[in-house]
Amino acid sequence: MHFDTTHLQALQTPCYLYDTELLARTLDTIHAEARQHDNYHVHYAIKANSNPDVLRQIAAAGLGADCVSGGEIRAAIDAGFPAREIAFAGVGKADWEITLALRVGIGMFNVESIEELDVIQQLATDLDMRARVSFRINPDVGAHTHAHITTGRAEDKFGIAKEDMVAVLRRAQAMTHIDVVGLHFHIGSQLLEMDDFAALCSRINELQEVLDAEGIAVPNINVGGGLGIDYEQPDLHPVPDFHAYFSTFANGLQLRPNQQLHFELGRAVVAQMGTLLTRVLYVKHGHERQFVIVDAGMTELIRPALYGALHQINNLSADASREPAVTYDIVGPICESSDVFARDYVLPQTCRGDLLAIRSAGAYGETMASTYNCRPLPTAHLIQ
Ligand SMILES: *Cc1c(COP(=O)(O)O)cnc(C)c1O
Repeated sequence: MHFDTTHLQALQTPCYLYDTELLARTLDTIHAEARQHDNYHVHYAIKANSNPDVLRQIAAAGLGADCVSGGEIRAAIDAGFPAREIAFAGVGKADWEITLALRVGIGMFNVESIEELDVIQQLATDLDMRARVSFRINPDVGAHTHAHITTGRAEDKFGIAKEDMVAVLRRAQAMTHIDVVGLHFHIGSQLLEMDDFAALCSRINELQEVLDAEGIAVPNINVGGGLGIDYEQPDLHPVPDFHAYFSTFANGLQLRPNQQLHFELGRAVVAQMGTLLTRVLYVKHGHERQFVIVDAGMTELIRPALYGALHQINNLSADASREPAVTYDIVGPICESSDVFARDYVLPQTCRGDLLAIRSAGAYGETMASTYNCRPLPTAHLIQ
């Protein structure tokens, strides 16, 4: 991303910057790669970034939407995603959210328990409508990522145990207002090892054989999201390796004739196009450490505090006259010890008033912002 610092100086900080050109390039790459396979459908996971301008650009590019709440369904519809291209996931769908999804005519519910299935059947009956449902199966596949963002192990709260799959499908097939349309999986987030997705493919192949033996056919397989991005070197890898990702499924999955394959990518679509712009308030010289205190905190970007995530940080104001390398702790203003963006981070000599770019912040940044400490929510600006 190219930063024009004179233009940025005028902005109120902290704020998000979204690079619409990089987003367009990422969406083009997804299209080019997915098009190689005539039965692939890519949905965008709204929770990664639900900024209305970002959503409109993604909807205009023809992706479907993956929603995890009624509010996200409304945001997706408002941005122009066709209702039929919306999948609705989540372990705790409220009655009003299910009713909303039925009324707008979403493509499918990703159902996570038999208890939820019973409620959908009841609400669909009340409305005299049919609900298309996929079942989220917990594949009991581990993934190489942070413990807080793995979702497909037996002990995680998500999905239906694979041992219960056949019984649940049979029960659903017998229901009056339910159409069983597929199986759904999602094993975690920020996955960089294609072997994790290959392991998911093997597990889906096993489960499909079980279904064949039972004489049950499902028209859709949804493999969720989770493709990771390069947080360490965003300029080297601004667009994730979608070729390797789709090829892993093309090589590993044995789809049945006419079966459609769905993906739900969040982070990989939007992370690299986003930057959190922040201004240095103070450089505090402690006895042991030097602190760069910035005006953004965990209220704007919680990933470092929540997952120990590390984002690359650039000082946009430092020129060649500065001392080239000083080790700082870069911290926010919030009254929490975990409000730290990076420890022992090397920056050019940094001064009050400098602008810092916290990179790769387009996913799970603005959407997770809070008003803790009575702070205003961050604003966002589109740049090219
Ligand atoms: C969060 C989520 C995704 C997107 O995950 P990414 O790691 O951002 O790609 C996809 N599907 C479901 C069900 C999710 O909860």
